[in-house]
Amino acid sequence: MAFSLHPLIDNGLTKGSDSFPGGKLHCHCSSKPVEVTIKGNVLHNHACGCSQCWKPKGALFSIVAVVPVDNVEVTANGDKLEIVNKDATILRHACKDCGVHLYGRIEKDHAFKGLDFVHVELSDEKGWQEPQFAAFVSSLIEQGFDPAKMGDVRAKLKSIGLESYDALSPPLMDALATFAAEKAGVKGKL
Ligand SMILES: [Zn+2]
Ligand SMILES: [Zn+2]
Repeated sequence: MAFSLHPLIDNGLTKGSDSFPGGKLHCHCSSKPVEVTIKGNVLHNHACGCSQCWKPKGALFSIVAVVPVDNVEVTANGDKLEIVNKDATILRHACKDCGVHLYGRIEKDHAFKGLDFVHVELSDEKGWQEPQFAAFVSSLIEQGFDPAKMGDVRAKLKSIGLESYDALSPPLMDALATFAAEKAGVKGKL
């Protein structure tokens, strides 16, 4: 294989544990790393091909999941965090020194407000939910990936059990659409 999807999934998925109690995420700094403590397991973990999620060097995808905001706490060196892009829907809090994204939060009115976006690879603990699908796969092309190799990428994702989507998964797209319908006052009218 001439490309790496992501080190966590290149050799297949490692199943998470239903009774996983949570754990700590650390940025990549060797001294004074930022630490974020997460209660319980994550939800909707997935490979994301968008250009905004943090991914390790050489990986085509990020691995990103959500967790209720109340289950997320910065427990060390939070003074090193800064928001990557204040105009983005997801306010990604990154370490100023190493660039790793510790958590992404939505402050504006949105279907996913109340959920933080996190990368479980920043944790040493085992048992985090394994990725469930691959999102924004075609976005790789916009970042310079060879369109002719997209078949190989989708086949590799399929071989490890991940369905490819060019937006989010159907349940998450439905959640976004439900929120939009409620806002427009048309929910259930069709
Ligand atoms: Zn750092
Ligand atoms: Zn993304």
